[in-house]
Amino acid sequence: MPSGTLLLEPPRPPDPARFQEVVNAPLSACLFSPYIVSLLRSKGIGVELLDAHLLGLSVQDTLKELERKFVGAYDNTPLLGVHLVYLWEKTEEVFDLLSKIKSLNPRVHINLYGYYPTFAFREILSRYPFIDSVTLGEPEYPFLELAQAIGDSKGAPELPNIKGLAFRNVEFHTPHSEFHTPPDDLPFPDRSLLPLYQEKGLTTYILGSRGCYGRCTFCYVSPFYGGWRGRSPQNIFEELKDLYENGVRYFYFADANFFGPGRAGRERAKELADIILREGLNIRFGMECRANDLEEDSLSRLVEAGLREVFLGIESACDPTLKRFRKDTSQEVNRRAVGLLRHFGIEPNLGFIMFEPHTSLKDIRTNFEFLKDTRLLRSPAITAHLLSHKQTLFMGTADYHRFSKDGPSGHLYEAHYDFEDPGVKSFYEAASRLCNEVLSLLTSGDSQACCTPLHEDDRLLELNKSLVNTYEEILCQYENGVGHRRQP
Ligand code: SF4
Repeated sequence: MPSGTLLLEPPRPPDPARFQEVVNAPLSACLFSPYIVSLLRSKGIGVELLDAHLLGLSVQDTLKELERKFVGAYDNTPLLGVHLVYLWEKTEEVFDLLSKIKSLNPRVHINLYGYYPTFAFREILSRYPFIDSVTLGEPEYPFLELAQAIGDSKGAPELPNIKGLAFRNVEFHTPHSEFHTPPDDLPFPDRSLLPLYQEKGLTTYILGSRGCYGRCTFCYVSPFYGGWRGRSPQNIFEELKDLYENGVRYFYFADANFFGPGRAGRERAKELADIILREGLNIRFGMECRANDLEEDSLSRLVEAGLREVFLGIESACDPTLKRFRKDTSQEVNRRAVGLLRHFGIEPNLGFIMFEPHTSLKDIRTNFEFLKDTRLLRSPAITAHLLSHKQTLFMGTADYHRFSKDGPSGHLYEAHYDFEDPGVKSFYEAASRLCNEVLSLLTSGDSQACCTPLHEDDRLLELNKSLVNTYEEILCQYENGVGHRRQP
């Protein structure tokens, strides 16, 4: 067995100024490291995972923990794999940490994997000399080959020949979308941290499929995976059963899109529900999907099998915006999906982009009326996020390349942009001030209410009502051409 590989989920230092930014990596990324662990172990490679994020370690404590490992049993660790998540301004703290690790053990090969390094590998490799390589796209098999090459090598390994990895000063990088892991071939992800998840009351995630068949211009899931690939229902069921036998009763599918394309995609979902019911697995679960994939037949079967929570990526209620996003849906499709979920007793959580570069005041009005009309503004935390959420432009998305001032080879992972309409810019500033103010009034318990319907809490109901009314008032002022004279 090679002397050892260490995987690190770095700490995610909290940033109070960023509490409104809800997502900086798709949920499916949460299983990258556990899948690498199980694949490496299945090939006889010794590997350990330090999940500093899960353990709630600070950057300093993580460094101490790593010092202990490098000075002790891991002083010969030749390979450190790091799942790097973009943390806005805090990302630099993680790079500082990695730089210190390299000074502790200059022989260690540091590899990064995940969405951020996949799309920003050129910038990362040129800016941070202590990073040796980056895994492009799905990390499992390229990382396995890297671990094998490092473990087998007597001297300097022939690393640049490994497909799916990017190295400094190597011009050619095999496109990551060429690497399609047959999902049923992978061992189930490592669950040694399950007791800690259970102790902390955290959700157990499971990955039933990879990627998405959608082509939304603001999203990098499809460029990362190169399409949608599902595990077979039987294979998913086997993993569910294993976890069930370990006491798990609630699961959340971390899939970017639970459904595969078209009728076959819905039939596959139904087949999974059929197996769960036939085998008598008494579970509850949640999932994320597109609005156009919801139809009565498969949904009713999934609900019977335990589906209770759905995150619906509707993004907008404006048809021209949905067209610009290449979402291939419409306000009508979104409205129907919300209605259908409610018919089955599920109150959806929404993916929604209120502000994007082309947004007009008319679009804001259309979105606002839709959200009110469909009773989706149901608690202050939800309302504040929905009413102020602004599109981010990350490398790897089609919109980044369209709107980035730096162009496709720019030096920023996140591109900044101005709204086309200066009135929208001013309204956005006023709306985010209002929404941030409301969010700052909420306790952590209040914020958790964002995932469940608000019932009898008078204080929150009143705060929600006042937020909606104030937003309405400000919007009217802008529509009447007097908004820009508002005082900050
Ligand atoms: S539906 Fe669009 S936003 Fe959602 S995962 Fe697919 S491509 Fe991304």
